[in-house]
Amino acid sequence: MNDEQLLRYSRQILLPEVDLSGQQVLLKSNVLIIGLGGLGSPAALYLGGAGVGSLTLVDDDAVDLSNLQRQIAHGQNDLSRNKAESASDSVLALNSGLKVKAVPYRLRNEDLKLQVSLADVVVDATDNFESRFEINEACINLRKPLVSGSAIRMEGQIAVFDNSGGGPCYRCVYASGGDDSNLNCVENGVLAPVVGVIGAMLALETVKLILGIGSSLNSRLLLLDGKLMNWSEVKILKNRTCPACSEA
Ligand SMILES: [Zn+2]
Repeated sequence: MNDEQLLRYSRQILLPEVDLSGQQVLLKSNVLIIGLGGLGSPAALYLGGAGVGSLTLVDDDAVDLSNLQRQIAHGQNDLSRNKAESASDSVLALNSGLKVKAVPYRLRNEDLKLQVSLADVVVDATDNFESRFEINEACINLRKPLVSGSAIRMEGQIAVFDNSGGGPCYRCVYASGGDDSNLNCVENGVLAPVVGVIGAMLALETVKLILGIGSSLNSRLLLLDGKLMNWSEVKILKNRTCPACSEA
């Protein structure tokens, strides 16, 4: 690490849980973030700020005026630009020493498998069940930890699926998926800071997984009611008939 990096990451290196060795691990790590909307924006910026050395940002959507209320990796000058490319520029403006790869199309099949295989942690910040199920299956097959969040109205959810062997998966919770309007805010709306809270927590859980710090949200679904400012937690159990992870 050079002098500039020592100063840049000094407040993090001060933590005994991180220290110089942990910062070096972060700098060598690779995180795949799928979805650069309201959740992926803060997650990408915080992971970039924290010094995750390689970030792969995936989104096939373009920045719309209605996104700027909450998707903080994009600015007015980014309207109509691809979100992965816009977010990539924002992360690099914060920390030009990182390797940031923008993928401006939807990852499927072999492309998805390749990017998941290259990642230390996968962050799912997408807004539809089809993508979530594909990402979940790739993470199970490649045994990669998955950090998953969603937010709508004044409510948010976050969970971690370890996938190193035998635990429950995303689909154990949402077996048959359902209405995508429960995952996106087109019909139901969302209060801007709620996505910020969940997005920052996606970054926090990702850093903890990379460094092996503390207890993760593995197999725990944390639910935020932002209106009443209540947090609750649900233990996630393995579904023996899960279409994604059951033996059958
Ligand atoms: Zn499952």
